[in-house]
Amino acid sequence: KELEKFLSEKRYPFFSSKQIFKWIYQKRKEDFSKMSDISKPMRAFLADNFYFSKLKLLEELTSCDGTKKFLFVLEDSSSIETVVIPEGQRNTLCVSTQVGCKFSCGFCLSGRAGFKRNLKVSEIINQYLEAEKLISPREITNIVFMGIGEPLDNFDNVIKSIEVLTSSFGIHFVKRRVSISTAGITAKIKELKSRNIGIKLSLSLHSADSDKRSKMMPINKKYPLAEVIEALKEFSHKGKFPVTLEYVLIKDFNSQREDALKLAKLAKSIDCKLNIILYNQSQYFSWEAPSSKEIDIFKKILKAKNVLFTFRKARGNDILAACGQLKSDFAVEESRENV
Ligand code: SAH
Repeated sequence: KELEKFLSEKRYPFFSSKQIFKWIYQKRKEDFSKMSDISKPMRAFLADNFYFSKLKLLEELTSCDGTKKFLFVLEDSSSIETVVIPEGQRNTLCVSTQVGCKFSCGFCLSGRAGFKRNLKVSEIINQYLEAEKLISPREITNIVFMGIGEPLDNFDNVIKSIEVLTSSFGIHFVKRRVSISTAGITAKIKELKSRNIGIKLSLSLHSADSDKRSKMMPINKKYPLAEVIEALKEFSHKGKFPVTLEYVLIKDFNSQREDALKLAKLAKSIDCKLNIILYNQSQYFSWEAPSSKEIDIFKKILKAKNVLFTFRKARGNDILAACGQLKSDFAVEESRENV
């Protein structure tokens, strides 16, 4: 619609916008001069007014479990990470939405270096286009907005990028295979619901006890858990738009019996999927994953309470695939070199 408006204002046929989209996102032509069904003067006009932005691949790491992590440099020299996680026939793309993060969750590296800026729509979509080339001939089957940053804090650009990714003139990616993960910004969850986009939503829960959650996730002080859960219930609207609760198991924080009991109670109060994930350790925090014995007890309590859940071992441990880990490692290496 934006392109249609722009073209009409410049007195070019508005319907060319669909042709242009198809050239870019379906035929993947990054050259206006090759867009043969568009008039020559218009091709020249496009080349004068637009360019094809690129991400520069700085580092690529492959885990022994197949997870691939890419460190990309943006035009302003900021860097972001994009991860592809293979699982059977699935290849899940995990995209970043911001350079850095404002939310400072106590165990997450993304917030450690602070926030720099929101990603542009092109920078979000380019992660898809570049990763697709890099993993070819495999194809991306799922997209999760779960990389660096808080997607709902860059709301407009994230929504616009999803519109391009899922548009039938664009990449035509299946909406129900797209999901956003949030630390819990109630106001934006409500806005997402009102937009009725048809994507899935995950909440990074990590504790079912609001006071405890506030200690690890400062956002909980602004948007307390009870409010977030209410917004999720409205979003889910009896399973039409499924919601997932993500619970990263961290020793000496949320892995005890009472934590499991509270989690069971909360998970049963809302129509949701529950994902338990093991904490991915890093040298920058003293947090650890619980022992296998503690994990077993935790799982047993959930089962005894008839709570359905999936348990995921951390993926890409050996390549620092958790949030912000590659970027932080790289920054340390860089600063060492500078010294
Ligand atoms: N801001 C959004 C999306 C980015 S974080 C959100 O909070 O959901 C993506 C997920 O990775 C979150 O669930 C986050 O809690 C989790 N995460 C961050 N660091 C981790 C680590 N070291 N090990 C396991 N999961 C981690």
